[in-house]
Amino acid sequence: MKAKECCGLVGICSDSSVSRKLFFGLKVIQHRGQEAAGMAVADGTKMRWHKDAGLVHEVFDKEILDELEGNVGIAHVRYSTTGMKTADEAHPIMAKTTMGDIAVCHNGELTNAEALRDHFRKKGAGLEGLSDTEFIVRILAGELEASTDPTRAISRTLAKLRGAYSLAILIGDRLFAVRDPHGIRPLCLGKMKDGHVIASETPVLDLLEAEFIKDLKPGEIVEVGANVAKSYQIPTPRHKAHCMFEYVYFSRPDNCLDGQLVYDVRRRIGEILAVESPTEADSVFPVPDSGRAHAAGYADGSVIPMAEGLIKNRFVERTFILPEQRDRELSVLLKLNPVKSLVEDKRIVVVDDSIIRGTTMRKIVQILKKAGAKEVHVRIGCPPVRHPCYLGIDMKTREQFVANEKDEKQIAKEIGADSLVHISLEGLVEAIGHPMEDLCCGCLIGEYPVPIEGERVRHQETLKKFY
Ligand code: 5GP
Ligand code: MG
Repeated sequence: MKAKECCGLVGICSDSSVSRKLFFGLKVIQHRGQEAAGMAVADGTKMRWHKDAGLVHEVFDKEILDELEGNVGIAHVRYSTTGMKTADEAHPIMAKTTMGDIAVCHNGELTNAEALRDHFRKKGAGLEGLSDTEFIVRILAGELEASTDPTRAISRTLAKLRGAYSLAILIGDRLFAVRDPHGIRPLCLGKMKDGHVIASETPVLDLLEAEFIKDLKPGEIVEVGANVAKSYQIPTPRHKAHCMFEYVYFSRPDNCLDGQLVYDVRRRIGEILAVESPTEADSVFPVPDSGRAHAAGYADGSVIPMAEGLIKNRFVERTFILPEQRDRELSVLLKLNPVKSLVEDKRIVVVDDSIIRGTTMRKIVQILKKAGAKEVHVRIGCPPVRHPCYLGIDMKTREQFVANEKDEKQIAKEIGADSLVHISLEGLVEAIGHPMEDLCCGCLIGEYPVPIEGERVRHQETLKKFY
């Protein structure tokens, strides 16, 4: 099986060299993917690139960045669902075309990759092992043969894609940014002193001292120049489908996404959770780092003091990423250790952003009880995840979810907690501040914004026009 793409991207067009700026931009969104990193840079005559498995600072060094000469470029961090760490799966994905070299970085996941595979197979092309991003590149290369206008070639390419995609595209030395017609994955645009930047998250703009211009609209294509950024629009369905999990977990808290600061959303989640599930307890423990803002909101809302009862080792990577279940459990212990004096004989509310497989919370309850906690109550800033994500988050089968075919009481028992409450769907939507119709909650409700074989699709009547 080919790896799926759940990633982050940066693109810059400037009057000066971009490789260092891209490097630091990638460092800011390292949390979006720790398996591989890559960069392509053009200087008007040549495109140069470098990509490899590893963290951003492992993949690039001073010499490599010096060689990546040019004033325009794109860069990417990725993680995959399969745990394979091969360099050829790193982005950008490149191709040679009649318009010169092209390079594509992709965040998201296509839902029609199989159909595209069949289509190409019928044409006799040997594309058996291609990832969905490689399809995008092949289609775009074909369209560039047919049209010398890159924007037209891009929009004709997009017409063949279904699913989630935010893209950074380099065609020769021209930079383009694209957000899919539902706006599922994020992408924003900023103005620097000497150019423009596009990025998955706004903290990249902050680092580069760029002024935020906008989140790309669903279905927007932007040609990003050093001085001007020119917009085009492809047809979109009536409703957006912003991924709710970006707010709950995936984004940095300091990211401002589609008009909402993620930190504020998470605090509101915690406050609403406190109202929905009041608890008698001595302290609120955040699960660092991803549950911090939710816990702060819960502490505020419940007037129970917050305490740093779980200490995190900052040098351990995200546990979710480790493919083996045994490694994952060990990794929770490596990552978190309780402060005994804060735990002994205390009634504790533990707040985390989400429960997926249940590995993290099961271990946390276990170590708190072992350290002498009297009661452990678990509060979660996301409704139970029971359905797969086909649109770019690494959650693929129903069997892996601890909430699969279980109610809250059964899950509480499974993780050993004295009580467990998830925020309600209504509470979550209120906290995010976008109408439910403009969010993708596929993993919570099993109803998706795009057709997926064997799954329910929402708003089918309006979508038909576009698909
Ligand atoms: P679990 O241990 O239940 O499988 O996962 C829940 C924990 O992993 C939570 O602490 C949450 O912050 C984190 N988490 C949730 N979703 C993801 C994800 O897609 N990737 C990574 N790396 N971590 C996740
Ligand atoms: Mg976490």
